[in-house]
Amino acid sequence: MQNLEFKDKVVLVTGGSRGIGRAIVERFAQEGATVWFTYRSSKGEAQELEEKYAGKVKGFQGDVADATAMEELVNTIVKEHGRIDVLVNNAGIARDNLVLRMKDEEWQQVIDVNLTAAFRLIKFVLKPMLKQRSGAIVNMSSIVGLTSNPGQANYAASKAGLIALTKAVAKEVGKRNIRVNAIAPGFIETDMTASLPEQVKKEYLSNIALGRFGKPEEVAEVVLFLASDRASYITGQTIVVCGGLYSG
Ligand code: NAP
Repeated sequence: MQNLEFKDKVVLVTGGSRGIGRAIVERFAQEGATVWFTYRSSKGEAQELEEKYAGKVKGFQGDVADATAMEELVNTIVKEHGRIDVLVNNAGIARDNLVLRMKDEEWQQVIDVNLTAAFRLIKFVLKPMLKQRSGAIVNMSSIVGLTSNPGQANYAASKAGLIALTKAVAKEVGKRNIRVNAIAPGFIETDMTASLPEQVKKEYLSNIALGRFGKPEEVAEVVLFLASDRASYITGQTIVVCGGLYSG
């Protein structure tokens, strides 16, 4: 019989309808998990995903920055399954602008979605995880959180914040058998990067050791590893998945 790594596990992935989040949802489902994912507007993609893994994957439409909706979602999951084993804070947005031109809303929106929403969801899932005395949390940061970029002060600050948040929570809950890690992807082919100017893409490419952009599935594999017992002695870390773009 097939040995599925996440059989009987309950997983919550934010921003699971497209891109990296979608690949993460699919890999967990293929490994036998029950997967809940959030999305904001892409209903068609979300429904398609639910149908593909009928009974195993469930979408929840709502803004991750909406505290009440997210608390209700976590409560629903716990009520239905009695536990949450894995949280993946993946949902993220970019609103690029130079600091001199950046509006307060552009700053705040990115911080709210990328960082504050992650903090709140961690708080909500820690309750059931502390009761279970087990759990794994993976936060989707970015190499931009390590290197920064002109025109991305809001995004860089949110992603650097996620790395610091990861370390702090890891130290708070490690003794309760809950692990918290972050991933810092480089340039991954998704809708988020598709709209970048060709010149910017060319420049990135010339600096990537492997000579190609990454695929969402290549990030998803690392998420599964960090969430699994195979990573039982890894916590508070940021794993860079960038094809050699960053070598700090
Ligand atoms: P993407 O293709 O733009 O997909 C983003 C996903 O997040 C979608 O499912 C979207 O839902 C959801 N989402 C966005 N804002 C949301 C909100 N307020 N509430 C709920 N869901 C929301 O992005 P991606 O490239 O896969 O990126 C995923 C994560 O990886 C992000 O945190 C990003 O910063 C990070 N990352 C990406 C790259 C890259 O090269 N692509 C590199 C480093 C880090 P809807 O479809 O409904 O809008």
